[in-house]
Amino acid sequence: MSTNSFLTHLICCKCEKVFDHREIQTFCTACNKPLLAIYDLDQAKRKLSKDTLRSRAPNLWRYLELLPVLESKNIVSLGEGMTPLIQLTNLEKQLGFSNVWVKDEAQIPTGSFKARGLAMAVSKALEFGIKRVAIPTAGNAGGALAAYAARAGIECFIFMPEDVPRLNFIESEVCGAQVTLVRGIISDCAKIIGERKAEMGWFDMSTLKEPYRLEGKKTMGLELAEQFNWTLPDVIFYPTGGGTGLIGMWKAFAELTELGWISGNKPRMVSVQSTGCDPITRAFEAGKAESEFYQNAETLAAGLRVPKAFGDALILKALRESGGLAISVTDDEIVESMRDVARQEGIFMCPEGAATWAALKRLREAGDVKPSDRIVLFNTVTGLKYPEIFAA
Ligand SMILES: *Cc1c(COP(=O)(O)O)cnc(C)c1O
Ligand SMILES: [Zn+2]
Repeated sequence: MSTNSFLTHLICCKCEKVFDHREIQTFCTACNKPLLAIYDLDQAKRKLSKDTLRSRAPNLWRYLELLPVLESKNIVSLGEGMTPLIQLTNLEKQLGFSNVWVKDEAQIPTGSFKARGLAMAVSKALEFGIKRVAIPTAGNAGGALAAYAARAGIECFIFMPEDVPRLNFIESEVCGAQVTLVRGIISDCAKIIGERKAEMGWFDMSTLKEPYRLEGKKTMGLELAEQFNWTLPDVIFYPTGGGTGLIGMWKAFAELTELGWISGNKPRMVSVQSTGCDPITRAFEAGKAESEFYQNAETLAAGLRVPKAFGDALILKALRESGGLAISVTDDEIVESMRDVARQEGIFMCPEGAATWAALKRLREAGDVKPSDRIVLFNTVTGLKYPEIFAA
């Protein structure tokens, strides 16, 4: 079999049990924790160089050797990746800062960075001949899965909260997915899939319950390094739901270090949540290794309404290893930040993305970030998907 990928196996993030990447895997059968994709980076280094990358198309498949798809013919792509880094030239001045950037994931298929993970997971599903997939979602992951599954000809079942942002429902239905609205939130949706998947023949695409969405999200870290000419920012602000992006970027930085492509300090990772659902902030502040289920989660930042992340231990570990922290902001601060960033920079952020700007302001007041720090905020999805917030 011809392959460009240097994937060699999967390993449990907790008990380190090894799993065969040539077979369909979900999560660790011994301890129910996520599996991580491991690559032969020594070999990859010989084949791939920073120079080789230069001639490749500006999408996430440029890192093919470090991605899990074994045969290129299985790639399901809508052109995702290499989103711009936009400096907040007006707003940074007001803070007395000089290096604040937004990684603008709004500019990606489906208007959502969930496209990265689901492009990867759907490509792997196609590679394995999987015919039916299901996903519990707070909204954007459903829309992204519907799009890639449509392109791949895979049947798609989506479970989302009945009060999901309306456009997430519409985009999923229009792409031909079978959408069920659930009274409850993402954890209730996950439960339904868990109960019915055997009977329905669904492959569960829940984040970190299959190994490859993480690899798609990892490309945000690879892109950042390349865009900053193989250096890394000092601080990254990330709106955390399931934490896939944060864990993925941290994994990317470790792989790039092993490749010898970056050196020196890695960024401090800052997890941002809403006070209406902040299990990671609570666990971080309590010094815990895992989070507790957050009861009665409620926030207009729909993507952050994840009461218990399956990969919570990995999120907390990355925050601590990086010397970073976790912080929560209120929904009022989020809406105010959406307006500020839009008015002063022309970027209509999603509420989750705007939360990172609110968090930066807070940390500046607390003296946790320095004016000279090179800072990256993640705008994870386009604000255009949330008309409800301003409809009134
Ligand atoms: C899913 C989502 C997040 C959280 O992403 P994770 O990587 O799962 O933590 C943040 N913002 C938006 C808009 C989302 O849809
Ligand atoms: Zn295990």
